[in-house]
Amino acid sequence: MIKNIVVKLVLITLILAVIAIAGLLISGQVTGTNKIEELISAVKNLINPDQEQETVNSGPLEIQYNDKVLVTLQNSATFTLKSKTELKESSSAKYQFNLSQRPKDEDPYYWYVVKINNIGVGEFNIVVVLEDVNGSAGEITVKGQRDAYTLPFGLTEISDWDTFSYTADGDSLRALVDKQNKLPLDYEPKQLVDVNKDLLLYTNSSLPILVTAETGDALKVMAGDLQRELNKNLVIASGYRSYLDQYRTYAGWVRQYGQDEADKVSARPGFSEHQLGTAVDFVDQETGFDLTNNFENGAAGRWLMENAHKYGFVQSYPAGKDSETGYQHEAWHWRYIGIENAKEYKDSSLTLNIWLSQNR
Ligand SMILES: [Zn+2]
Repeated sequence: MIKNIVVKLVLITLILAVIAIAGLLISGQVTGTNKIEELISAVKNLINPDQEQETVNSGPLEIQYNDKVLVTLQNSATFTLKSKTELKESSSAKYQFNLSQRPKDEDPYYWYVVKINNIGVGEFNIVVVLEDVNGSAGEITVKGQRDAYTLPFGLTEISDWDTFSYTADGDSLRALVDKQNKLPLDYEPKQLVDVNKDLLLYTNSSLPILVTAETGDALKVMAGDLQRELNKNLVIASGYRSYLDQYRTYAGWVRQYGQDEADKVSARPGFSEHQLGTAVDFVDQETGFDLTNNFENGAAGRWLMENAHKYGFVQSYPAGKDSETGYQHEAWHWRYIGIENAKEYKDSSLTLNIWLSQNR
C-alpha cells in the first residue's frame, strides 16, 4: 500500500517536471546549451514568477541581465548587461549599446550599458541585437513602461550631465558616482535592510529608510558607540533612493528653486550616491533634526568628523571643495566605503570622488 503511494508520488513528480520543462522549452527559456543550474533556476522562476532572477540568455552568447521590466519616467532608460565574451558596441535610433567595464580579477565579465532611446508614454518592447567580436550573434527583448510624470515648468526631460560615463558596478564599495559617473536606471543594491525595523536605529521619517546590509551593520556599531560616548542619538534622515526616487527628488528641487540652484544641492537621477544604498544623511536633536551644515558644530557632527572613518564612513561633500565634488558642502551626508578604504582615503587628503577615480 505505502509502496504504491510512493510509486504514484514519484510518477506524479516526474510528470510535473516533464510538463514544467516542456513549458520552458516552449517559452524559449531553455535550450540545449543551458546548464543544469540554469534549468533549476528557470524551473524555480516558473514556480515563483514574482521572484526576481538573473536570466542566462540562450544562444551562442553567454549574456546575463536582470530579468525585470524597466520602469521609467524619462524618454530614455538604461540597464546593465554582463557578458563573458567581448561584444561589439552598436547603436541605432532605438538603442545604444556601450562597454562600461572590462573584466577584472574579481569580476570576469564585460559590463555593458544598454540605453533605450525615444520612449513614449506607455509600454515598450524592444529587441536589442548583440554580436560578439567572434561574430556569434544573439538578441534580447527589453520590456518596460514609461509612466506619465509632470516636470516643472519649462522642463521636458531631465537630461544627463554633458560629459559622463557609466559606472556599472554599483556593488563595489569603491563605485564612483559623481557628476561625471552615472549608475544605470536598473542598478539596485542586492540586500537592503530597514534601519528602523531591522536595526532599531532612529529615523525622522514615517517611511522606511533602507541601506545595504553591510552599511547597516557598520551604522549600528557606529551609532551605538556614539550614543555611549555622547549620550546622544544619531538620527537617520535618508538612505537608499532608487533612480525613480531620485528623479522625483531632483524634479522637486527644480520646481522649488530652478535647475541651476537644484544642480548645486541635488543629484540628477543616476548620479546620486544614495542609489548605492551606502550613503546616509544624518540629523540630530541639537540641530533641530534639519539637514544643515550646522550639524558639524554639534557634538554628534564633531564626533563623526573625528571617528566615522574607523567604522568605514567618510564625507562625500566636504567644506570648500565644491569645484572638486560638484556640490555644496553637506555635513550630513556620509558614505560607507568599508573600514580599510576609509582609512586609506582619510590619509589621502583628496575628495572622495577624486580618490575613487584613482583607486577603483
Ligand atoms: Zn545625502
